[in-house]
Amino acid sequence: MDVSDTPRLEVQNLIRQFGDIPAVRDVSFQIYPGQVMCLLGPSGCGKSTTLRIIAGVEKQDSGRILVDGDLVCDTIYRLPPEKRAVGLMFQDFALFPHLTVAANVAYGLTCARGEKQERVADLLARVGLHGYDQKYPHQLSGGEQQRVALARAIAPQPKVMLMDEPFSGLDERLRDAVRDETLKLLTDEGTAVLMVTHDPVEAMRMGDVIALMRDGRVVQQGSPYTIYNTPADLQAARFFSDINVIEANVEGALADTPFGKFLAPGVADGSRVDIAIRPQHVHIDFDRPGQAPRPTEAEGQAAHARVVRSRFLGQQSLVDFLLDDGPSITASVPGVFLPKAGTGFYLTCPRRHCKIFRR
Ligand code: ATP
Repeated sequence: MDVSDTPRLEVQNLIRQFGDIPAVRDVSFQIYPGQVMCLLGPSGCGKSTTLRIIAGVEKQDSGRILVDGDLVCDTIYRLPPEKRAVGLMFQDFALFPHLTVAANVAYGLTCARGEKQERVADLLARVGLHGYDQKYPHQLSGGEQQRVALARAIAPQPKVMLMDEPFSGLDERLRDAVRDETLKLLTDEGTAVLMVTHDPVEAMRMGDVIALMRDGRVVQQGSPYTIYNTPADLQAARFFSDINVIEANVEGALADTPFGKFLAPGVADGSRVDIAIRPQHVHIDFDRPGQAPRPTEAEGQAAHARVVRSRFLGQQSLVDFLLDDGPSITASVPGVFLPKAGTGFYLTCPRRHCKIFRR
């Protein structure tokens, strides 16, 4: 990734209201050349509206968009969509049925004929469709058609590529291959990519940066690692995986739980907090069954629990426990670990993996 000082795409304080629905509320972000940002969030959170405003097919109530530092639109000035150097890839790509593959790819190119032919041949080779140039769309499979659409979208060398779940129509194996190859082609050319998805796994796999949206706002921005490991709130934590939540009361800046006390600095006495820990971070003490491990600063106090149910999920096993004096806790263990219901274990919650959120 070539990170230069000027963002390829800069979105400043976008706002868009539909009647009384605030679809986009003060959204700002920057994407640098060759960088992929995933706009991630649940259905209706404002992802597509943000994308449509950047593309120029929807108008913002306020806010500015810049490409390579140049103003593309604000509330007074508006460059038309075709002049923005912004490409679009949607799930419902439409190839021209009466044009050959080569003519479809060449459609948006304005260069001289010879150069055009060269560029089309190069692009078709890069999307794995060498020799398909004289075929028509109806002679191609869905995946092949999508790759033609991709070549067509890349052909004019847009500075910014906007993608709205463009791969969701493909089957899983084809999707992974086409998606990886697409992003490589784009980022190799220094394009800034903004990809909309509601799938956290896809966002973590594809995004250099994730912008997590909720109710029209970007609630957190950062690398997949940061967003996953340092979620802004409990909802953000839950968006990426199932998570255990232990409720606790705070007294003297300490939250009291069956796993011992947790530091809760700055939280008022009598307040309630949620302590979140992902299933893969719950530690099961296998070493001394029946014997409580000593409390430590890193692991806290062990809590005794009995297995309620265990399931094998392929690469890992998921075990549901009920604490002797507390809530249910789910732990995931790599490989095969399927203890019988009723088996007792001591569990600990390593402090470095626990996040405390105020209610
Ligand atoms: P999805 O993942 O389901 O596509 P999204 O995050 O892309 O959802 P948007 O399509 O941006 O969400 O919609 C955000 C909100 O704005 C929703 O409440 C939606 O109903 C509303 N909305 C979007 N477009 C319009 C419109 N043209 N007129 C009225 N309301 C709209």
